[in-house]
Amino acid sequence: MSSLRAEIIAIGSELLTPERMDSNSLYLTEKLNSIGIDLNAKFVVGDDEESLEQVLRDSLQRVGLVIATGGLGPTEDDISRKVFARVFQKPLVLDEEILRQLEERFRSRGLTMTSNNARQALVPSGARVLDNNQGTAPGLWIESDGKHAIMLPGPPHEMKAMFESQCLARLAEMSKGVRIQKRVFKLTGLTESACDARIAPIYTRYRNPVTTILASPGEIEIHLKATSPTEEEAEALLNELGDKIEMELGDHIFSRRGESLEQIVGMYLTMRQASVAVAESCTGGLVSERLTRIPGSSAYFVSGVVCYSNTAKTELADVPPLLIEMNGAVSREVAIGLAEGIRKRTGTTFGIGVTGIAGPSGGSETKPVGLVHIAVSSETGVDDREVRFPGDRQRVRWWASQLALDMLRRKLL
Ligand code: ATP
Ligand code: MG
Repeated sequence: MSSLRAEIIAIGSELLTPERMDSNSLYLTEKLNSIGIDLNAKFVVGDDEESLEQVLRDSLQRVGLVIATGGLGPTEDDISRKVFARVFQKPLVLDEEILRQLEERFRSRGLTMTSNNARQALVPSGARVLDNNQGTAPGLWIESDGKHAIMLPGPPHEMKAMFESQCLARLAEMSKGVRIQKRVFKLTGLTESACDARIAPIYTRYRNPVTTILASPGEIEIHLKATSPTEEEAEALLNELGDKIEMELGDHIFSRRGESLEQIVGMYLTMRQASVAVAESCTGGLVSERLTRIPGSSAYFVSGVVCYSNTAKTELADVPPLLIEMNGAVSREVAIGLAEGIRKRTGTTFGIGVTGIAGPSGGSETKPVGLVHIAVSSETGVDDREVRFPGDRQRVRWWASQLALDMLRRKLL
């Protein structure tokens, strides 16, 4: 399929420091994808004429559409308009209408315009001017030899308003006949390589949709992107490959539309009209925190206690002192004791118990750092798992919360 491809250039020296991140390109990429325009590459350059000129020239060699943000303001370091005019060989001419609007804007606020503001009224000859309802710097759209270059302001709210009102519809028209649809599967309980070994034989047979696998701690995302003349056809392509992937990975997949694990668990609990309470030690409240991130979780989340000390395990979750003494605080028995104890005490459908050694200290030969016991109890019985998570304290805690939520999900299936 021949389709319009784009590159984005984020301009601003602050974007090359740790203080500011280029977020404009994320917004633009999402919007472009939604109208069937794929991104070829993106760049971040400082307020430096030479760097910008080089990047711009290269981009225009590769793609039909370049979108730049930033550097349109009135100050000396705002270089976009100058560089674009030079690269496109269009002289900058003063646009009387913009000048009038700028003066008017200042006057209406009781301010006098400083002369450097007039710079914003300079337009590469023949360029289309994009009004800025949110700020002073107008945007510009240059079209030359079948190439399109759009310059948008840097401030995100100005950039978005301008793009949405004055660029999106026209670009959609230009890329007519191309639609991109996406699907995101999320799974847990498999490593990235195990996941890929199972589904690579399936997805490598398809060039459309394109499949990407993204791994983060305790979670894998499979992204499918289909390109087709219509939304329906793209969806059909997603269904065909998606169904095969689902068939292969089964209930390792917890989410089919990008939902988070806690969201899915919340949906299941709501559907079943069930409730849950949590007694956690090494996760320090993380399981409860994740469950209650979801709006409306009060419908199913009853209580969460952090019982770090042995006394607290007895006082808050009714774990018998003798059980702790005999097995140690980090043990299968205590995890089950926490899950059962908190469930009975609060009268919920499910109880979750977590106990482990998050490290870096506190490990021993028989109970090393990373050892975690998790139990999920209900009236029909208790599921429990012993696991050894790799990594530092934060990772161990995150992995443990992930497994606890997944064990509850599986019990709800
Ligand atoms: P202005 O008229 O405000 O000067 P401008 O087009 O010159 O507009 P910049 O001066 O480059 O824009 O940036 C203005 C603000 O927008 C800065 O706070 C900057 O950090 C922010 N900004 C610029 N580019 C981006 C980007 N790509 N992502 C997120 N924020 C950005
Ligand atoms: Mg700037």
